[in-house]
Formats: sequence, structure tokens, C-alpha cells
Amino acid sequence: MSNLYTQIFRLLLVCVLIFGKSLIATPNLGQQTAPTLPKFRVVKADRWGILNKSTLEDTLFDRVLDQIVASMSLEEKVGQMTQIDLGVIAVGEPCALTQPVSLDAEKLKTAIEKYHIGSILNVGCGSGELNINEWKRIIAQIKTAEIAANKLKNSGNNAHIPIFYGIDAIHGANYTTGATLFPQQIAQAATWNPEMVKKAAEATAREVRASGLDWNFSPVVDLARQPLWSRYFETFGEDVFLNQILVKSMISGYQGANGLNFMNSSKQIGTDYVAACLKHFLGYGMPLSGKDRTPAWIPERELREYYLPGFQKAIEMGAMTLMINSGEINGTPVHINYDILTKLLRHELNFKGIAVTDWEDIYKLHHTHKVAASLEEAVKLAINAGVDMSMTPNDYQFTEILIDLVKKGDVPMWRIDESVKRILRVKHKAGIFVDPESQSVFNVFNHLAVNHSSSVNSTSIQESKLGAPSADKNIPRKNKENTTTKPVSTEIIGSPAHQQLALSIAEESITLLKNEQQALPLRNDQQIILFGDAAHNMNLLNGAWTHTWQGDDEKYRISTNPETPTLFQALSQQHSKVICLCDTVSGKSDSVTFNNHVFGSKKYWKNLDKMVRSNTVAVLSLGEKPGTEIPGNINDLNLELSESNKQLFDYFKRKNIPVVLILNTGRPRIVTSLVEKSDAVLQAYLSGDFGGKAISNTLLGKNNPNGKLPYTYPRFAGDILHYDHKHTEKNDTKFGKTAYNPLFDFGHGLSYTEFEYKNFKVIAQKLPRSINDSTMIEQRTSSGDKSIPLDDIENGQLTRNWEIYGYTVDIDITNTGKVAGRDVIQIYLSDEFASITPSAKRLVAFEKTSVILPNETQHYRLFIELEQLSFINKDLKRVVEKGDFTISVNQLSQTIYFPENIEIK
Ligand code: BGC
Repeated sequence: MSNLYTQIFRLLLVCVLIFGKSLIATPNLGQQTAPTLPKFRVVKADRWGILNKSTLEDTLFDRVLDQIVASMSLEEKVGQMTQIDLGVIAVGEPCALTQPVSLDAEKLKTAIEKYHIGSILNVGCGSGELNINEWKRIIAQIKTAEIAANKLKNSGNNAHIPIFYGIDAIHGANYTTGATLFPQQIAQAATWNPEMVKKAAEATAREVRASGLDWNFSPVVDLARQPLWSRYFETFGEDVFLNQILVKSMISGYQGANGLNFMNSSKQIGTDYVAACLKHFLGYGMPLSGKDRTPAWIPERELREYYLPGFQKAIEMGAMTLMINSGEINGTPVHINYDILTKLLRHELNFKGIAVTDWEDIYKLHHTHKVAASLEEAVKLAINAGVDMSMTPNDYQFTEILIDLVKKGDVPMWRIDESVKRILRVKHKAGIFVDPESQSVFNVFNHLAVNHSSSVNSTSIQESKLGAPSADKNIPRKNKENTTTKPVSTEIIGSPAHQQLALSIAEESITLLKNEQQALPLRNDQQIILFGDAAHNMNLLNGAWTHTWQGDDEKYRISTNPETPTLFQALSQQHSKVICLCDTVSGKSDSVTFNNHVFGSKKYWKNLDKMVRSNTVAVLSLGEKPGTEIPGNINDLNLELSESNKQLFDYFKRKNIPVVLILNTGRPRIVTSLVEKSDAVLQAYLSGDFGGKAISNTLLGKNNPNGKLPYTYPRFAGDILHYDHKHTEKNDTKFGKTAYNPLFDFGHGLSYTEFEYKNFKVIAQKLPRSINDSTMIEQRTSSGDKSIPLDDIENGQLTRNWEIYGYTVDIDITNTGKVAGRDVIQIYLSDEFASITPSAKRLVAFEKTSVILPNETQHYRLFIELEQLSFINKDLKRVVEKGDFTISVNQLSQTIYFPENIEIK
């Protein structure tokens, strides 16, 4: 009997375990039966070459790393996990260095000998740029100290663990005097030109490396869906796909070809490249209030659909490091979120690089977020969640606390070892381990392998991919991947080639939003009256992260370099009749003086009356106060005109003088009525040091604009929708479908010429299905006039031995205007019906054309990867559901049928 009871009890227990769990997991929300998702055939993304994942695993390299870590003391290990600001080791206060900047020998000794720090960053709280001689001196002092102190035990050749120097070279090496300052990321996005973005990153990498630094805290991968956010200008805009493509370009520019697909192998980047840093993992760009570092509320499905893909692609490519989001998502600061920092980042995305905190963020868990009752708890939570390196950055509390926590057993030693191994792996890949004997970056690990591992025989080491030292010291060393190992010459900083590149990118980014009555380009016989705060001001063209952290230092208002003129200076060089209603000496234009008459005085207006001709055109160049992070927060999307600008604008309109508006803004601002009254509008973004020239060239027709908006431009402050909105967001107050009514749409951008699109054709591309794959593609009867452009469709049925891996799109473009120009082919996709409400449309492919001459027709073929048909379903899986998809370019479209349900892994 008792046996029977035991059996029944066991049975009940099993039932409770099985069904009870599912009851808890799936609350009944009043539905009779839970809707079931269709069955998905699971396919690996790299089957179609989507992922391009590296499978190289160098076990020798891993073993060497393990052994180095094993030979280190706890203090040395925790030191590697510590990153301090330059201010901590310089003469003066951490955020107010004594000029000229020099290192304090005692402080340096403490940092390296006592704390064994692994990394240094910045320039004393972003206080200001250093010239190349200052950089050289500082870096040489650090190197001497690290060589003496950070010896690698058993290296056999006096090798040491180098310090990794990180810098925010956001749009060029902006903390090195004379460096090339490119347009900010948002402007680079407007070029829609991945090749240019890559070139700018490559040039930046060289200038950073020439400054003696090895790690760039760039790119910002955050998606800009919240225009109030103060860091909008640091992003590639609002679109998932454009962001992915440009992030990938930037990484390949920073890390070089060998920096790609290599985190699983022992390959290194060349000494003319830098380690990239993806910022800010994850969901940082979407604070609900728009204020920097305030709470974000993002459901996991949306996180994966919108905010993760950029990071995912960059990690797949081999981005070496990432910086963690300072904020919180759904109530949990990301710095303590094990699910994000370990489960997602390490287990799912297989990221092997360094996860560094943002500025002081471990301390902020206690001071600001209030999730840790003490600094000790903060350190414990962060390290156990998966943080590798702490940007402390102004003291050593972190270091001391972490050593204690390990001793007490609150943080396990394996967690420390894991992070140190990641840090050493990245340092090696960044090519900064230098063998003091041969000065080669490549053989240190060979020596270490020999000396650390008795079980590894030297032949296998010689054959490993670690490269071998060159016999002749004078021969520039190249590793097997043909990467240079020579230091980059400082002459490259601000070189003419880099400056020309910066100018081209600025020109390619400028976006012509409106051009009525062909107000632009300006004619040679026209008189130009220029006004507005950005008419004669470099700070407003560059924005933050320029010379200083906030980029607002008055001393950089007007450049001393004739190659980097303000708009007024640039226009005056090219046009004989330019008048600036600004103080041409100080650059101040808010309190306008003109011919020595103060704005508003009778003489001022009289003077202006005398000046104005029938051929006058007024150009209003508006800017926004430079700023980033919390100091850059704004309360209002409206871009208000100052009183003087307002009166001048109205004055010109009253006189029937055409007004051209230039928006030097890093985000869409609300300028609807101003735009309506203006005859032409140029969006110039934050165009950098060559922005003055680029805008001038565009106004004068020497550059035919071809930039396209990387964001949707709202018409009203309270009406922020994205181009990839959901269908319900179109519902208007009259029960119609017109509510999506932005001032300018994502992708918008006019030209001085016109283009016609013809012969649009979408063709499915197929591969033979693998023999082992027994899943059948479901049959479908042909539906009316829908086009199914598959070669082997018979009676509406896809031949089952083939599977679709993407689509080619063919299109002819003709320049029907009078001047040569370039366009951006933008291919959008609409999933007609899906289990998660589909977006009205999404960008799935794009290409910038070459120059097309008047009457010329060019043919283009673009490719849509199958992944672009996918979305994240309610089970958080990336799937393509069978059904109709409409693919469009301009006004042309074609509907295709995708015949099966697949999950992409
Ligand atoms: C910013 C980061 C930057 C870091 C180092 C932080 O305050 O959020 O983007 O890389 O400082 O300067």
C-alpha cells in the first residue's frame, strides 16, 4: 500500500514539475488557447555566408595566455583590470593638469609599481588636446616605467605587459593638436558611403597610432531613436541596417583587414591600426526622457530587434573591445546585468574581447544608481556580472576593494583570471606587446610559449600563426598577413591626404532638404549676405569631442589654420561679394555688429538697406551649442532663433530676398516654420574642420549634394515617429492613414540634378538544398498577378531541391537633369503580414552610385540577404515567416513570395 502511495506521490510530483512550470511561465491572459507559432526550419546564418564567422581557434595561444595569467600575482591581475585617467599620473589635479602637461614621477611609480595598472585613458577629464611632442614625452615615460615594472615572468627575453592607452578619437584624433577632424558620425552616416566611413576610420587609426595611442573608444553603435538624446550626433542614425553596415566599415577602418574575423585566432592588427571599442553596450541610446544616462525601458524583443544587431555584427567581425552602457534598462543598471554582460555577450555572442566600464560607473552603482549599499558591493556586483576592466578613473579604490573581495572569496579567482586573459588577448592582438630585443611585436608570444609550456614543442610554435621575428632590424617587418609593424610617422597627423578625405566626406554628407525655384546653387553674380551663429564659428561646425571633451572652448572659435576656414572665410575665398553680419574678429554673431553699428540701431538697418541689392541672397547658418553626455542635455527639440537672427530673417523675407537656411545640427530639431519660409535648406550636420569649405562648395555648386538623411525629420516636437514605424502609427484623426507626416523622410536628400529609376527587377537567388535536409518546402498555388520571379517555379510551386538565400535587385538609373551627380539607391522591404506587427517598411540594401553624367544611364545590381526578411518573433527567435514581401525603390515595387518558415541561427 505504502508503495502505491509513493508511486502516486511521485506521479503527482512529476505532473506538478512539468505542468506547474509551464503554468508559471505562461500566464493565462484570458485566451482560450495560446496561439501557436508556425513550425520553423532552422538554418545556420553562415550557410549563406551571412555571418562569416571565424572558426580559427588557436589552442596554443590560449594555453600561453592561461600560463601567463597563472604566473601573475593577484595584485598584478587586478591591476590589469584597472584603468586610470592620465590626470592621476600627471602634474596637477586629475581634472586640471598643469600646463604644459607632464608626468609626475612619483604618481607614475605608484600607478605602475604599486597598482600594476593595465590601462590609461584620456587627457585629464577631457580637458584639452596635447601636441605631438607632449604625447611623445608622456608615452615614452610610461613605456620606460612599464618595462621596468611589468616584467612577464619566464618570458626569457625581458618582455613585459604593456599598458593599453585608450582615447576618444571620435571624429579624428581630436585630442592631438593638428589632427584631421572629420565630420561627426551622424554626418558620416548621411554619406551612405561605407567606403568613405572606412577610409576616415583608417586615417583616424593612423593619426591615433602616430600619437602613441593604441585603443580608440569608437564607434558609437547605439541606435538614435530619441532625438532629444544629447549624444544623437555620435551615432549613425535611426536605422538598424544602415547602422550595421557603417559600424562594420568603421571597425574595418580602425582595426584593418587583419582585425576582422580574428578574435578566435592569434592574428594581430598592424601597428598602423587601433583596437576599436563598441559603445555603449546595450540600449544606451534610448533613454525614455531623452536625458543622458536616465532609465531606458526596452523589452527584450525590441532590444534584439533594434539595439543588438549593430553590436552583434561588429562582434562577429572581430571588434576587440566594448564599453558598457552607463544607464539602466528596465530597472537594472547594465553594469550589474549578468544576463546582458555574460549570458548574452559571452555565451550567445561569443565575445572574447574586453568589456570596459564607462567613466566611474562601478562607483556610480553605489553613488547614483543606488543598487549597491557600499562601494564593495558595487565592485562585487559588477565583476561577478562580467565586467573586465574598470574605468575607475581617478583613484585606486576599485583596485584595493577588488583585491580584498577576492581574498575574502566574494569574487572567485576564476572570474579574475577570465578577465585578465581577455585583456592580455586583446593587448596581444592590438600588437602592443613588443619584444625589447628585436622591437618586433610578433615574437613575444613565441618566447612565452617556449618558456611557459614544456609540453609544446618548438616546431609547432614555429608553424603557429604567431609570426616570426625578422633577422634584419632595418627591414620593415611584415607579419604573415602582410601587416606593417613599423611605427606610424607623426607626419601623417593632419596630412594633406587626410584633410582632402575629410573635405570629401563633409561634401558627401551635406543633404539638400529643400530647393525651391532653384535657389541653389548660388550664382557668381549674386551678392551673399551671411548671418547666424554658425556663419563664422568652427566650434559649431565641429561639435563636442573637439580639442576638448565638450568642444566649446572659445579659443577654437576661429581656426589659425588657413586650411580649415569658417563658412564666412571659405565663401569669401571663392566668391567676390560676401558680407557677413557677424563680428569677423571674434566670430561672435549673437550680438551682431555690422560696419561698426550695433544690431537694432537705426544706423544698422539703414546700412543694411543700402547694402541690399536685387541680386542679394541671404544665407542663415544656424548651429547648436556643442555638448555631449549630461552637459549636452537639451530640454527642447525646437531650434529657437536668437532675437537678432529672427529679425534679420523677417527683414529679408519682407524685402523678397531669397533665404537659404543651413542647419549645423547633430540631430533633427524642430524648424518647421523656418523651413517653410526658407527658399532652400541644407542639412550640414556637424561637418568638422572642413565643413566651412564643404558648405561653401555646395552653396556655389562646386559640389552637387548627394547626402541623404540618416533619420526621420519630425514636423512637430511631439510627433516623433521613425520611418520604420508600425502601420497603426499612421492612423490619423479622421480615421485615415496619414498620421505619418514627417517634415522630411528618412533617406531624403535632393540634388542639383534629377534621376529616373527604371527596369526594376527582383530575382530570388537559390542554392541547392543539402542532401540531408529532408524538410519540404510547402507548396503554394499561384496567386493572381503577384510576381514570383523564381526560375524554377512551376504551377506556383518552388522546386524543392533549392533554397532561397537572398534576392538580387536590378535597376537602371538615368540622370535626367543638366549636371553630373550621384544618388543613393535605397531598397526597402515591407513584410505584408507577420506574427509580430511588421514595420511599414525597412531599409534592406543600399548603394551610392558613382557620378552619373547628364543623359547617362547606369545599371546597378544590389543584393538583399535573406536575413533582411527576418525579424525577432515573440519567442525571441530570428525568423522569416513565409508569405508576401514587397520590395521597393523610389516609386517602383515588386511583391515576392517567400515559401517557407525558417529560423536563422
Ligand atoms: C563616455 C564615453 C567615453 C568615456 C571616456 C564617458 O563619459 O560616456 O563615451 O568613451 O567617457 O572618455
